Amino acid sequence: MSAGQVLDRASGAYLGFACGDALGATVEFMTPKQIQKRYGVHQDIIGGGWLGLEAGQVTDDTQMSLAVGQAIIDNQGWNIQAVADNFVAWLESDPPDIGNTCRRGIMRYRDSGELFGPPRDDDAGNGACMRNLPVVLSTLNRPDCFSVWSLQQSRITHNHPLSNAATLTLGRIVNHLINGQDMDACQQEAERLIGQYGEFAYRPYSGKASGYIVDTVQTVLHYFFSTDSFESCLVATVNQGGDADTTGALAGMLAGAKYGVQQIPERWLRQLDQQIAVQIRQQTAELIRFGESL
Ligand code: MN
Ligand code: MN
Repeated sequence: MSAGQVLDRASGAYLGFACGDALGATVEFMTPKQIQKRYGVHQDIIGGGWLGLEAGQVTDDTQMSLAVGQAIIDNQGWNIQAVADNFVAWLESDPPDIGNTCRRGIMRYRDSGELFGPPRDDDAGNGACMRNLPVVLSTLNRPDCFSVWSLQQSRITHNHPLSNAATLTLGRIVNHLINGQDMDACQQEAERLIGQYGEFAYRPYSGKASGYIVDTVQTVLHYFFSTDSFESCLVATVNQGGDADTTGALAGMLAGAKYGVQQIPERWLRQLDQQIAVQIRQQTAELIRFGESL
């Protein structure tokens, strides 16, 4: 695997993630029928949605990922406190969107300094899984660091076995893709998750695309494995509605890692908030460089 290929797939994953967030946010919480009635097929980054976004604006998924990535880069190492502090700063920046479980966890840390809460049944949302890509990019050759760091950052807000398992699985699939492994390796990773927790089985696909981590992962895996291009994967995913910015982001992460940054449609890259795009390109290069020193 050449360094250029790694960077191409890693940038594809991170920019693909942000494109999926910006694309999906328009139809977040809509049903497939509502989307069809309003947009036909939703396939352009036009903003709007329940958050009233500018075209190209991203949401908490991308912002929290950038917070994780910046903590790694600024510390040139893993510092869980720095990750949590960045979450607090982000919370206090009055973001357009923040999930309830994330808010509760960040406020607990802010008020008590505790880096994780007790296990809770209602922590099985997708909020920890959605922000883990920077950990993947900084640990491409260190699976040991990947697992520990992923679980630590997750537990700041989510302390639930299904969230943990999904976060590790999607991260490992991205790692396989960036490291040039084939789809069999990715399928095996998915099968391993389903062997562990049968509820993640996604064939036949139920059509549920909510923020519950099981629904999210089923949707992302279903469309990732049943489409054959970056664009078709993202369009199919977000038109499923539900937590469409997050399913779009995670599908974009996988598809971007598979197909590479060149396959992201130009019209989406052009529309994406350019400040965010610059930050993502910088973080991608810096996280990989840091990872090589591990
Ligand atoms: Mn979001
Ligand atoms: Mn969402």
